[in-house]
Amino acid sequence: MHNRKYLLPVIMLAIFETVAVTLWLTKDNLFYLFNFSYIGISISLGVFLFIRRYQYARRIVQLLVGLYMLIYLGLVCNENMQIEGFWYYLFTGVFEAATIHYAVAKIFGPLLFGRGWCGYACWTAMVLDFLPYKVPAEPRKKLGWIRYIMFAASLIFVASLFLAKAGNMERIMFWAFIIGNAAYYSVGIALAFAFKDNRAFCKYICPITVFLKPMSYYSLFRVKCDKEKCIACGKCKKVCPMNVDVTDNSRKRENGTECILCMECVRNCPKDALS
Ligand code: SF4
Ligand code: SF4
Ligand code: SF4
Repeated sequence: MHNRKYLLPVIMLAIFETVAVTLWLTKDNLFYLFNFSYIGISISLGVFLFIRRYQYARRIVQLLVGLYMLIYLGLVCNENMQIEGFWYYLFTGVFEAATIHYAVAKIFGPLLFGRGWCGYACWTAMVLDFLPYKVPAEPRKKLGWIRYIMFAASLIFVASLFLAKAGNMERIMFWAFIIGNAAYYSVGIALAFAFKDNRAFCKYICPITVFLKPMSYYSLFRVKCDKEKCIACGKCKKVCPMNVDVTDNSRKRENGTECILCMECVRNCPKDALS
């Protein structure tokens, strides 16, 4: 059963196609068929390449999904997929692309695939991962509280627009998307260089982690360590961009809710103890 290892990309594709067809038919909108098929094919291709041990498998998925969301959904379709867009569509009561996107990728999906979004789809991290500090050069800082301020600020911003009954909200949300992304990239790149850590923005600033962290705590899919094989060499922790102690199998493992499932630890373990 040599080909059994390719079952996972097939299952992934089947899951995405189920979502694609269900939403297409229930919402009578062909966009969902196209959208979720495209994302499913991109992710399955990445899993397939990873199984083939292709070094840039994750980066390819990140670019395929991230660029599609940023350029096509954001700039062409004017869909604000940032957290402000989520609040906006939530308040208007429209269960459309941005709310569905949050439900699937960032709120309920993480119960299944943890912070896979952060490793394979986020267009902010897609750029940050090109920077030179793939592994943090300095110890983690106690700045995680900033994410809650960012989260509250995004909520207050959108709530104020509703309370003030601002006109042409669609236009405001489009510009919020442009300015928000420009700010994320600027702050993200500056922090990466300041802290010598590509993922500093993810660790301290990103408001979406307020959803992602608690949900991914319960993630079904997570990297586990075979204690029989592990020789405690510490290589996995050294290559981890998110400072996770993956040798601890408990859910309370150090920085466990930070794991972005990048599989660097799995690829670098000399004893194949991680899977
Ligand atoms: S933490 Fe935020 S910026 Fe970083 S990858 Fe996740 S969603 Fe993107
Ligand atoms: S790299 Fe592998 S062998 Fe080394 S500590 Fe991590 S799990 Fe154990
Ligand atoms: S290196 Fe391993 S523990 Fe660290 S984020 Fe990637 S998959 Fe998770």
